[in-house]
Amino acid sequence: MDASAAVAFDVGRIRKDFPVLERLIFCKPLVYLDNAASAQKPAAVAHAVERFYTENGANVHRGVHLLSAEATKEFEAVRDKVRGFLGARAREEIIFCRGTTEAINLVAQSYARPKLTEGDEILVTHLEHHSNIVPWQLVCEQTGAKLVVVPIDDRGDVVMEEFERRLSDRTRLVAVGHVSNALGTINPVREMIALAHARGAVVVVDGAQAVPHMRVDVTDLDCDFYAFSGHKLFGPTGIGVLYGKRDLLEAMPPYQGGGDMIRSVSFEGTTFNDLPHKFEAGTPHVAGGIGLGAALDYLTALDMKAIEAYEHDLLAYATERVGAIEGITLIGTAREKTGVLSFVMAGAHPHDIATILDHEGIAIRAGHHCAQPVMERFGVAATARASFAFYNTRAEVDSLVDGLALVRKLFR
Ligand code: PMP
Repeated sequence: MDASAAVAFDVGRIRKDFPVLERLIFCKPLVYLDNAASAQKPAAVAHAVERFYTENGANVHRGVHLLSAEATKEFEAVRDKVRGFLGARAREEIIFCRGTTEAINLVAQSYARPKLTEGDEILVTHLEHHSNIVPWQLVCEQTGAKLVVVPIDDRGDVVMEEFERRLSDRTRLVAVGHVSNALGTINPVREMIALAHARGAVVVVDGAQAVPHMRVDVTDLDCDFYAFSGHKLFGPTGIGVLYGKRDLLEAMPPYQGGGDMIRSVSFEGTTFNDLPHKFEAGTPHVAGGIGLGAALDYLTALDMKAIEAYEHDLLAYATERVGAIEGITLIGTAREKTGVLSFVMAGAHPHDIATILDHEGIAIRAGHHCAQPVMERFGVAATARASFAFYNTRAEVDSLVDGLALVRKLFR
């Protein structure tokens, strides 16, 4: 890490913003290394949610009273923050939903399902999270389209020649993760988007694991859709975002029917609301949105370049130290990675590793990480996964290494 990044990023100060990091787990200081599942929240996020429930608590968009007007103003202001955060052109392109999963399902059912027919193709990579596979499998069943999978190599990189080769005149849609949750691979999404567009395909990027680690600009990337979840971005659960290019969203039918998404309803016929409300049926997660706004305020006050440099250094350190432990094999050694260290240990099941580490106060993940095809590709049923955020430290990596030495001793 260069010295300027170290100065710009004071991890000791940052950690004070995350109260949970003070907790003791089995009398040991918490070492939270399950950030890819859910990141922890700064106090500012919890306070924003609490303030909404203690001082407001009203519904949005429909009340004439002051509380509702305030709630609407605050909730809609978050849409503007998200627009800025993603570099989208217009607030109408920002759709609130439950999270990445719902965002992808929305695109699958409202964009792909009406458009695709027998013989059309949807391209995904072997790296995808289940939520970027199953919605497309459902669409394939509904339309007769075919799911085409791009292979990955032994490091966990997408084989780009195969990506190009598998793009065809029948490819209508490409769905790709920006960063793999199982391996941490950063995909060359800019190149993928350009290649897909050259074939006339629309691109959906699953950004769940990217936005916590890097600056993302959807206009610059030129993706057609981009999805992320609030809870992985230091915000609340139950709130997420779908970005979509305006002309595509305008042409799509609604995803769900209900309140808020209509202009007028009668038994003769219903007309729909304008963007973004056309895709936001029912009462949204108002408090979650406000909490997400607080998370964005928190993040945008930090220096994202410094965070990237700090995390890069931390992952390099963890890779070197954990990789050097006898009996450990790292799964996923892509050229460009962020945030994730997946591994297996000879003689020890990942669940046993995670359980023993838990008793040392260290929270990691064990399992297939909702990416069973990735596990199958590497010939393992599960991995142990340590995943990092900017509040983690080298000292915590040292604790992980000590914990793994203990596991090794027990299972040798
Ligand atoms: N995609 C990726 C790459 C993920 O890591 C996750 C969460 N593990 C998801 C999609 C699904 O996110 P959510 O459960 O918040 O909808």
